[in-house]
Amino acid sequence: MDGTPGLLAGKRAIVTGGANPRGIGAAIVELFIAQGATVAVLDQAYPEGAAAALAAGRCNLHCDVSRTASCEAAIEQAKAALGGIDVLVNNAGIVAATRIWDLPEDEFRRMIEVNLTGTYNVTHAALPALLDSPRQPAIVNLGSTAALRGGGLLGGSHYAASKGGVISFTKALARELGPRGVRANCVAPGIIETDMTLGKFGENWEQELKQGIPLQRFGSPAEVAQAILFLASDLSSYSTGIVVDVNGGFHIH
Ligand code: NDP
Repeated sequence: MDGTPGLLAGKRAIVTGGANPRGIGAAIVELFIAQGATVAVLDQAYPEGAAAALAAGRCNLHCDVSRTASCEAAIEQAKAALGGIDVLVNNAGIVAATRIWDLPEDEFRRMIEVNLTGTYNVTHAALPALLDSPRQPAIVNLGSTAALRGGGLLGGSHYAASKGGVISFTKALARELGPRGVRANCVAPGIIETDMTLGKFGENWEQELKQGIPLQRFGSPAEVAQAILFLASDLSSYSTGIVVDVNGGFHIH
């Protein structure tokens, strides 16, 4: 920071799925802290039972978003460490390309459990604290272009359905929570360079895909984080129930 207060000055944020240093979650955490937030990072990768000590603006808490009890415990720890919750970013997610003819029920269920039920679990656990927040509380959920165009790349029908569910869930949250002072919005990233996508297409397909994107390249985690910062901060104070595309023009609709 350069001495100016920052777009999230004084805000207390939860970011799920922020442990992978090459992921979108890590970019969100870095930008949020640079903009003045304190952040509880919830991820299944962190050890269970570790103390929630705040250091350099963040604390790392174990949380499997697909398990209700794990989410409730992590949110309790986060509230104690941060003193409340003003911003929730549901970023944790998984992807798989399995096509419908090969898709077993347990894989379909797991996708929904992590991406959609996980978003519900953390939101439901954090909601009392968000409703208590005096600092323009906001929820930001990670959808995907896959939900809008019907998968087809690295995400199969189960991934597309889970992210479509997240988008619909967010719109309903916006309606239900708007009168109670909480905004809820989505970002829908296109192809972003993280472990989910890097090296997954093969060189020829990758070049072909890039040529089909108006901005001629894949996006970076930092570019998704910037859109999330807008939706998490008071810059978007009159926006709720929207889906912000971050896809280089890959899907214009
Ligand atoms: P990453 O795999 O890099 O990050 C996902 C993070 O979520 C990882 O830290 C992962 O932990 C964590 N996670 C997975 N399952 C759980 C769980 N059950 N409980 C808690 N944490 C969990 O992916 P990205 O950064 O690329 O993706 C972030 C989000 O953005 C996802 O929701 C994804 O669907 C969405 N997105 C990504 C796009 C892309 O092109 N990259 C495009 C559109 C949407 P672990 O590593 O231990 O599994």
